[in-house]
Amino acid sequence: MSRFWSDVVHVLVPYTPGEQVQMPGLIKLNTNENPYGPSPQAVAAMHAAVGDDLRKYSDPSNTMVKDAVARRFGLKREHVFLGNSSDEVLAHTFHALLKHDQPLLTPDIGYSFYPTYCSLYGIEHVLVPLNDRFEIDVEAYMQPCGAIIIANPNAPTGIALPLKSIATLAATHPDQVVVIDEAYVDFGAQSAVTLLDRYSNLLVIQTLSKSRSLAGLRVGFAVGHPDLITGLERVKNSFNCYPLGQVQQAGAVAALDDHAYTEQTARAIIDSRHWLTAQMQALGFEVLPSHANFIFARHPQRDGARLAAELRQRAILVRHFNRPRIDQFLRISIGTDAECTALVNALGQILA
Ligand SMILES: *Cc1c(COP(=O)(O)O)cnc(C)c1O
Repeated sequence: MSRFWSDVVHVLVPYTPGEQVQMPGLIKLNTNENPYGPSPQAVAAMHAAVGDDLRKYSDPSNTMVKDAVARRFGLKREHVFLGNSSDEVLAHTFHALLKHDQPLLTPDIGYSFYPTYCSLYGIEHVLVPLNDRFEIDVEAYMQPCGAIIIANPNAPTGIALPLKSIATLAATHPDQVVVIDEAYVDFGAQSAVTLLDRYSNLLVIQTLSKSRSLAGLRVGFAVGHPDLITGLERVKNSFNCYPLGQVQQAGAVAALDDHAYTEQTARAIIDSRHWLTAQMQALGFEVLPSHANFIFARHPQRDGARLAAELRQRAILVRHFNRPRIDQFLRISIGTDAECTALVNALGQILA
């Protein structure tokens, strides 16, 4: 507390990211980082971008990256917004598009940054409960609201919503923005990008952090109707005109263009997810059906926080959320085959 703080600072509820611990031999399965490196083409493009040109400001309109996103999805540049991470794109989205007289609807169990943005921007919101199977219940969103935001696949459950449910949400809320945060969509879910030509109220947000293995680069984007994009640009250009530097722009273009690499590494992660799910089930865990690069699992006889602590003693980090309904679950990122095997062995010892 400081007497120098603005009023808003006193009521903020900052997001707590997963720990970034430096420890030799640590197996880090707590922040959904990709175990495989980024596209070699992206790395080469970034090396090539380091030079004299850095004395100049980067392109404030991110044209090359917008065109790469547009190429990838068969859209036009006017449909694309870029930001320094999808967290930043989300922040601008809350600010530009989600504050209305009626409350914002979002799942009670979802990406915990959403309530944080609500506290930052003073947005009233209603937490809509997931059903007993931890699925998003589209019927529960049929209530007066100013806007809707969900992650698909949802975080931290990993459960995906079928495309027709997203179409229903968009069709039944023609006067509200419906935001779909697709941070994990490339790990087996259906992207709502294909619905954009039918619904001008739909905004889809993706990141280069997960399936493209560039969490350290900080690039995210939104795609949607040009009216939504223009609203986002107005906020961005009132905040930071150059959110992406030249190195980021070069890396992002090459990563987006090397989609074959993204698909190949995503496929490997999906295979590992299937293997890990079966192993965890054999150890007695209930594992929610994941379409993400992590699984969400609980053991009927073992306390979630205890399990996380015992794994930590064995130098394996997983994420535990001390929150109602999910405090018995562990969120475990899919690692390399060796990391997944080490996790299964450690759990076997702990449960024995
Ligand atoms: C990881 C994640 C993000 C943030 O991604 P960045 O681009 O690294 O900020 C956004 N939404 C969800 C649901 C995520 O899990």
